[in-house]
Amino acid sequence: MQLMSDLSPVDGARVLADLNALRAIGAYKTGVHKPTFSHAHMQSLGWLVEQLAGAELAASIDGIGNVLGTSAKRGAKILAGSHLESQNYAGWLDGPLGVVYAIEAARVINPDQNIDGAVEVAAWCDEEGHFGHFLGSRSYVGDVSERDIDAARDRNSDRTMREALSSVGLAGRPRALAERGRHIGYLEAHIEQGDRLESGGLAIGIVTSIVGIWQYRITFVGEQNHAGTTRMEIRKDAGLALAKFCVAIDDRFPKLCGPRTVWTTGRIALDPGAPSIIPGRADMLFQIRDDDPAVIDRLERKLETMAADFTARGPCIVTLERIRTGTPALMDRRFQDAIEAASNSFAGGRSAHMPSGAGHDAQILARIMPAGMMFVPSIGGVSHHWSENTDDADIVTGAEVFVDACRRLLGG
Ligand SMILES: [Zn+2]
Repeated sequence: MQLMSDLSPVDGARVLADLNALRAIGAYKTGVHKPTFSHAHMQSLGWLVEQLAGAELAASIDGIGNVLGTSAKRGAKILAGSHLESQNYAGWLDGPLGVVYAIEAARVINPDQNIDGAVEVAAWCDEEGHFGHFLGSRSYVGDVSERDIDAARDRNSDRTMREALSSVGLAGRPRALAERGRHIGYLEAHIEQGDRLESGGLAIGIVTSIVGIWQYRITFVGEQNHAGTTRMEIRKDAGLALAKFCVAIDDRFPKLCGPRTVWTTGRIALDPGAPSIIPGRADMLFQIRDDDPAVIDRLERKLETMAADFTARGPCIVTLERIRTGTPALMDRRFQDAIEAASNSFAGGRSAHMPSGAGHDAQILARIMPAGMMFVPSIGGVSHHWSENTDDADIVTGAEVFVDACRRLLGG
């Protein structure tokens, strides 16, 4: 297939310059450090508001730190964006890539009178979860109460979200709510944060679904005792039971899981956690991700049986508690088709359908409107680290595909 990059209305140098302008705010090595409501984050939001004015969008920051640029143009509207805060000492593209692509789409499409519609731009606050869990996009879809905000605290400093909002001058501002029916859907671009595209020589990932995340606390109760005087035969070592349980999961899950299921024991705690005391209690935080609820169901039932078996055999009591349920979000078929057609035109068809193993704001927006997501390659699959990067050529190709997908969805 013939590449049509020379036909794209996208200004690749402008896209790269915008991304580098955002990288210069809160720079850390080759990445950035922009926790939610930090000076660098707020400066980035200010930068965005200025850019949106230049793209014929009316923009403001709302009471939870979302930036929304709205268009007065007639016709269909597509909402596009991502986020501008970062994980601590992390990469420059996680979030800004999707925001800058959205700005570029607005710049190209909104003044074009041959397209009966416009691109509106959003930067969702706190996608990275410094204070909560997708607080900005959840607020927009009506899923965050004032009490949720009262309860939210910065996971690093314990500062309350109310204090943070007031220190950056957002306290008391109204929060923007989605206007039902205003948008034909939401489109988000993001770096892949994995190595599938790079290793396959591909330029574009067409996201089919965003996995759900299920989380469990598994608790082991034995008997705390002296590590020197308690004979091995009579011990009820909760730490040892936990270790055996982890090994048993790794032995049994592969026979029941789906092709892309992943599971992780992210935290283990032994109580009291001292070298000369047999732990009387232990617990682990265990997470499963998949885009098929039937697979999760199977694995959860397996965990329940294993807990019951371990308890029956002794010497420790094992209990399983589900602490988070995540519904996978399916990406809209029409959006996937538009990304694929745009990839055929501007990326030589080097695209593949794939699920997203990471969470994104698109999964929240998908609750109220059709949503789509596309990925560009991450060098070495690295993300959530300052060295995160993507080839400039891939960034530009991604922008061309993104803008063309928006144009197709708007019927241009
Ligand atoms: Zn992100």
